[in-house]
Amino acid sequence: MPIRLYNSLTRSLEELQPLVPGKVTMYHCGPTVYSSPHIGNFRSFLFADVLRRFVEDQGYQVTQVMNVTDVGHLTLDDIEGGEDKLEAASRKTGRTAWDIARQYEAEFHECQQKLMVRLPHHMPRATDFIPQMGRIIDDLLQQGVAYQVNGNVYFAVARFPGYGKLSGKVLDELEAGARVAVNDEKQDPRDFALWKTDDKHQMQWDAPFRGGARGFPGWHIECSAMSMHYLGPQIDIHTGGEDNMFPHHECEIAQTEAHTHRRFVSIWMHARHLLVDGTKMSKSLGNFYTVADILQQGYTGLELRYTLIRVQYRQSLNFTQKGLDEARAAIARVQQCRQRLVRHRDGLERVGGDDLAGPAAQANAQFTAVMSDDLNVSEALAAVFDFVGVCNKAQPSAAGASAALAAFLRFEDVLGCFGPEPKPDATNEAPADLQLKLLARNGARRSKDWATADRLRDEIAAAGWKIVDAPTGARLEKA
Ligand SMILES: [Zn+2]
Repeated sequence: MPIRLYNSLTRSLEELQPLVPGKVTMYHCGPTVYSSPHIGNFRSFLFADVLRRFVEDQGYQVTQVMNVTDVGHLTLDDIEGGEDKLEAASRKTGRTAWDIARQYEAEFHECQQKLMVRLPHHMPRATDFIPQMGRIIDDLLQQGVAYQVNGNVYFAVARFPGYGKLSGKVLDELEAGARVAVNDEKQDPRDFALWKTDDKHQMQWDAPFRGGARGFPGWHIECSAMSMHYLGPQIDIHTGGEDNMFPHHECEIAQTEAHTHRRFVSIWMHARHLLVDGTKMSKSLGNFYTVADILQQGYTGLELRYTLIRVQYRQSLNFTQKGLDEARAAIARVQQCRQRLVRHRDGLERVGGDDLAGPAAQANAQFTAVMSDDLNVSEALAAVFDFVGVCNKAQPSAAGASAALAAFLRFEDVLGCFGPEPKPDATNEAPADLQLKLLARNGARRSKDWATADRLRDEIAAAGWKIVDAPTGARLEKA
């Protein structure tokens, strides 16, 4: 079945048709490593992960590159102004920009692991690609598409007619929205920096192009250099968050295509912003969560992953505590179903006559159809839960249980949000209805409704289980 994806550039659904049949190249704008990764960042990174997993599931050989921006990303990135984010963090903390970059890069990799991200094949650091950026800048200067003023190099937007084709932004809008003083060095307010000279900047290099001054690269040129290095001048899919579309991706297109004279990317994909409690996440509103914050509240990486992927990437996703609790219950429901199937397959339960191969094939087909339709994860989860319902009603034969379990392995391979196949003997898992009561009891305690919390605790106790409150969250144990 063809995979159809929404291309932000053409604003339409397009069939994935790789440049090289059978192989798909993907580039994802990665983290800027100046602070702890937050859940909004990870909505976009998990979307990229699910995309890769599904494309692989469909038989393609994928090569995935995600960069680490450790220099050059300015604090006002929508207008290319302000201070380098790493330098700003350094000034605030008194630590070196290099220290900060390495610390948060390590933390990012840790989060990837906790959220079950299949690691990209290459995760290059911008600071390791200065010579490659230099070669592109040199060529753009030679062509007259870039110019140098006082050691700063700018891309001349007026020389690239396609500028604005991705974001639809036009000159007037940019001028009207400018929040900083006009930069006199620029020939055109839209021009953006490829190289900046500044002797106070901690991360600085001799100019990697002819006739330049010591300095550091602009953010946009990094992605062009790293993408070209690993994947060649043209790639199949490029992703990012919707806030990357302008100016970052617009600038990537301009400088890359001016350099190669070829179409840079076939399909541009952008994940929508994450909302938290119905509004944009921000430190000042107190609804800003890092990945570590959520894990410290006692939720697992799997539960956070489920919460962040459950809505199709182009739809608004509202992140709430209730959503996390629902994720916990949903994962438990799938795992209990799988465990029962394991016991039937292994002859530990009285085997029935239901052959689940037909329903499994149907669930697989439905899953493929909705994932092929622009990665509709919400519909894919609906297909999984319909199948859970069928399995729970069945008295499966050993072969039937086996077929059903194979389908669950495939769903897990693509979504990665349920966990490994349960062991047949893990009987100390509390039933789903009690897990739900535990969640309700936690909610009651949070809202200081002690009477309800106590009632739910008693009901759980009456069923032979007790609540163990641990720093990692409450769990149920056999009483
Ligand atoms: Zn990028």
